[in-house]
Amino acid sequence: MSNQTTALVTGANKGIGYEIAAGLGALGWSVGVGARDDARRDAAVEKLQAEGVDAFGVPLDVTDDASVAAAAALLEERGGLDVLVNNAGITGGMPQDPISADLDVIRSALEVNVFGVIRTTNAFLPLLRRSASPRIVNMSSSVGSLGRQQAGEAGPISIAYSPSKTYLNAVTYQYVRELADTNILINLGCPGYVATDLNGFNGFRTPEQGAAIAVKLATLPDDGPTGGYFDDAGAIPW
Ligand code: NDP
Repeated sequence: MSNQTTALVTGANKGIGYEIAAGLGALGWSVGVGARDDARRDAAVEKLQAEGVDAFGVPLDVTDDASVAAAAALLEERGGLDVLVNNAGITGGMPQDPISADLDVIRSALEVNVFGVIRTTNAFLPLLRRSASPRIVNMSSSVGSLGRQQAGEAGPISIAYSPSKTYLNAVTYQYVRELADTNILINLGCPGYVATDLNGFNGFRTPEQGAAIAVKLATLPDDGPTGGYFDDAGAIPW
C-alpha cells in the first residue's frame, strides 16, 4: 500500500456522508464514495473531484452480501483500506410510534443501520488489519442513548430508528471487545441534528457540521480512544 491513507465512506453520495468524504479528501486522503445508485455515486465522485478530492466510486449496497463482497474486492485491488466510515443509515419509514408499529419498518431500519454495518465491517476487516493505523467510525445518533432517553433528552419516541442506533452501539461495543488486542480504533459518532433527506431537512446543523465528528474519529492518533460514543461536545452517555 502507498503512504496515502485510503478511506471508504458508506452512503457518501449525499448528506453527512458526502461531507465526511469531502472532509477526509481535504486531508489529501484517497476516498472511496460508497453508494448503491450508479448515477448518484458518479455525480458525487465528480463533484468531489472538482473540489480537488482524490475520490473514487465504490458500488455499495450495505444490505447486499454480493455488493459488499465486491466492494471489498475493489478496495483490495486498489491496495487496501485504512479507515472505514459506516455512515449509511435510514429511519426505516413510518410509523415510528410503538403502538402502531409495523415490523417491516423496524426490519428495514435494522437491515441498514445494524446488519449493514456488521456485513460491511466484516468484509473490510481483513483489509483494515493490514493497515498501520486502522480506524472504524460508526455513525450512530444520540437518540440511541438510553441514558439520554431516561433523561428525556433524546428526541421523539421511535420504535425503529432510535432502537436501531442503540443496537448499533451495542454491536459496536462487541467489536471493540473482540478487537481489543489489535491496533484498530473503533468509535461511534453522533452528528447532531442535521438538515438532510433523513429528516426532511428539518435539522438545524449543516451536513458539514455533522461530518466533523466523523472526520475527528477517523483521524484519531494511534493512542486515541476506542469504544467511545461521541458528539462534538464530548462523550455521550450510553
Ligand atoms: P441521508 O438520508 O442524507 O443519507 C443517507 C445515505 O445512506 C445516502 O447516501 C443513502 O443512499 C445511503 N443509504 C441508505 N441505504 C443504503 C444502503 N442500503 N446501502 C448503501 N447506502 C445506503 O442521511 P444523513 O446524511 O442524515 O445520515 C447519515 C448518517 O447519520 C446515518 O447513519 C444517520 O442515521 C446518521 N444521523 C443523522 C442525523 C441527522 O440529523 N441527519 C442525526 C443522527 C445520526 P441513497 O441516496 O441511495 O438513498
